[in-house]
Amino acid sequence: MTARILDGNALSAKLRGELAARAATLTAQGVQPCLAVILVGGDPASAVYVRNKVAGCEKAGIKSLKYEYPQDAAPADVLGRIAALNADPAVHGILVQLPLPPQFDEKAVLEAISVEKDVDGFHAENVGRLSQGQDAFVPCTPNGVMEMLKSENVPLRGAEAVVIGRSNIVGKPMAMLLTAAGATVTVCHSATRDLAFHTRRADILVAAVGRPRFVTGDMIKPGAVVIDVGINRLTDGPDAGKLCGDVDFASAAPVAGLITPVPGGVGPMTITMLLANTVQSAGRVARKG
Ligand code: NAD
Repeated sequence: MTARILDGNALSAKLRGELAARAATLTAQGVQPCLAVILVGGDPASAVYVRNKVAGCEKAGIKSLKYEYPQDAAPADVLGRIAALNADPAVHGILVQLPLPPQFDEKAVLEAISVEKDVDGFHAENVGRLSQGQDAFVPCTPNGVMEMLKSENVPLRGAEAVVIGRSNIVGKPMAMLLTAAGATVTVCHSATRDLAFHTRRADILVAAVGRPRFVTGDMIKPGAVVIDVGINRLTDGPDAGKLCGDVDFASAAPVAGLITPVPGGVGPMTITMLLANTVQSAGRVARKG
């Protein structure tokens, strides 16, 4: 068996086209969707992520505002900016690029963002709402994974799903979404004993570990759906400098039924879902008139 590839670039292009059409309709109604992005410090990876988010907005007809602060920025300045953006009715989404420099209390910054504009879905109230099945902004990466599963009509009800990783931004919300969709979910993490015992039972395996090529073919059930969230830059060996996922694609693809590549899998879907949350937020404002 050789897995079919679940192409995140193709699905993103289709969804972004739909979002652009929705954004154009809202703009014609006088509500142009608008995302404000705050970047603190000079982390090169963060700068690339922010650049891609801003470019994604522009292509979809979403207005973007970018606020940059130096590495030694005073937290009060950033919190002041968030307060101003919270109060601005023309802004529908606010995103603070993580990680923040050490003088910041990351939790306090995320909680300062208005729940109605928290398009990353990291505010504790949005997380609580999601866990209770209430209307909420869903964190972009796991939301993107759900869209990928939906696009392939992967049966979720009653399926065995295993998520490796329990972070607030990927693993935990991923487990919540799969549970809500009717899957039987196991969350594995750094203290899990006999990881392969769990992963070999998975009809759907989601890897969000942050370790290059960590999940190998012998850990995968034949025919399983394998979703690779990891984005790692290889530092040595023949592929040094290249990006790779948490799944060892070469040994996993012959065993899995459906698999996401890295790059070109979950990555582009994350930004697509950010755009979707921003358009959704603007849509709410337009409905309120
Ligand atoms: P994190 O470091 O916060 O969490 C990693 C998780 O892996 C932890 O919960 C930990 O318990 C678990 N883990 C570590 N070692 C393990 C082991 N030996 N066995 C089992 N579990 C283990 O990372 P994160 O923010 O959740 O990100 C995970 C990966 O996904 C990273 O590569 C990151 O770059 C990538 N990521 C990609 C996107 C995207 O858009 N595709 C978005 C966010 C994160």
